[in-house]
Amino acid sequence: MKIMKFGGTSVGRPERMHQVKDLITADDEKKIVVLSALSGTTNALVGIGEALAEGKKDKAKQKIEELQEHYTNFYMELLTTKASRSKAVQIIKEHFEFLTIILKISFNEAINKDILAQGELLSTKLFYTLLQELEIPAVFLPALEFMSIDENDEPELSRIRERLEAILARYPEDSIFITQGYICKNHRNEVDNLKRGGSDYSASLIGAAVSASVVEIWTDIDGMHNNDPRIVEQTRPIAHLSFDEAAELAYFGAKILHPASIWPAQLHNVPVKLLNTMAPEAAGTTITGAGEGTVGVKAIAGKDGITALKIKSSRMLLAYGFLRKVFEIFEKYRTSIDMITTSEVAISLTLDDVTHLKEITAELQKLGKVEVDHHLSIICIVGNTIMEEPGVLNKIMGSLEQFPLRMVSYGGSRHNVSILIDGKNKEQALKSLNQGLFDFE
Ligand code: ADP
Ligand code: ASP
Ligand code: MG
Repeated sequence: MKIMKFGGTSVGRPERMHQVKDLITADDEKKIVVLSALSGTTNALVGIGEALAEGKKDKAKQKIEELQEHYTNFYMELLTTKASRSKAVQIIKEHFEFLTIILKISFNEAINKDILAQGELLSTKLFYTLLQELEIPAVFLPALEFMSIDENDEPELSRIRERLEAILARYPEDSIFITQGYICKNHRNEVDNLKRGGSDYSASLIGAAVSASVVEIWTDIDGMHNNDPRIVEQTRPIAHLSFDEAAELAYFGAKILHPASIWPAQLHNVPVKLLNTMAPEAAGTTITGAGEGTVGVKAIAGKDGITALKIKSSRMLLAYGFLRKVFEIFEKYRTSIDMITTSEVAISLTLDDVTHLKEITAELQKLGKVEVDHHLSIICIVGNTIMEEPGVLNKIMGSLEQFPLRMVSYGGSRHNVSILIDGKNKEQALKSLNQGLFDFE
């Protein structure tokens, strides 16, 4: 059994949905097909939620109408028979009536999650209708019946596995299963989601749950590139990454993968492939447990919106237990630390989740003097045994010499160097590193 996940652009136009149909019917292997919402839909749904949160019902209504028009044009191009078009009309009616009812009731966070779920529900139902029209046998597998997160918003992998096994056992003869990415149920049994870009995470969780042969992430680019193609002009795809390398890149800003999407596949040793729906023949990127390929730098990613904290304390001098006291505060507020450096009198660390920054700072002040810096970026340089490349640090530092470096983390693992810089220098830093670390003729 394999998993094939298609992102927003891969299903965002009627002709692309037809391409997806070709890709999922190209072989006979049993497969679970995970679909995102059509591109632009989740952003539109976020906009509807924001308008409602601000009490702007007219604005929300207008956005709902615009979106409905988009879907009405979409299905007319997607489907041709009268029977399937009338099914599509019913699907669109059901979901947009739901959104319209929401306009009339008082808005809260649980309702917002329901709004956000509409995109994946619509895309999968329309795609399933296309398969029915083309008489391609397939089973519709509602993600809300098996995908769940616990009270800490962590996926419940063993429960997901149990439920999926039970559902799949009902269809021993079928080979194509269609499900939604992104959406899930939470511990209150409400509709929830795996955060923006979460369909990759769904695919990896499903892959781990069914011990898939491979998780294929089909998107709009031919694999993980050596640098951010939205910022740097000359980039190229990387043939192979280890799970650790891919996880670092995803976590530190490579948008092609959801930040948490590698661990489930890694845990169950399921290879992940990044492939291009628009160029299916391209080799893409294969991610496995093995650290293959050239020694040295493979790729660079940058993550924005980082906050740094520095805690200075003369009491740290020769004191044991100081770091524990600092970490306990972060644990208490369930806030994870990305980078950390220490000296004898100070400790610097970075966060990207600042929900509890005020409380954390207040408690840290009991331990020492605290300085907070906002709008920073982490540049993450990743490669297999990166330290074995001769002169690699010189090249990195040389490429960044025009920028003040706030923190450097080297040696935490064998495949990563992380550097904290001012956010306004991120784009230029990615470009300079591209020139300094890679050969492009
Ligand atoms: P999907 O809708 O299929 O999930 P995403 O937009 O989430 O697609 O991810 C694909 C996009 O990620 C690419 O179009 C590209 O602009 C961006 N991206 C950022 N960094 C990288 C990288 N290092 N390699 C490849 N793509 C990247
Ligand atoms: N539709 C969701 C989003 O846009 C999930 C995804 O595409 O992965 O964030
Ligand atoms: Mg994505």
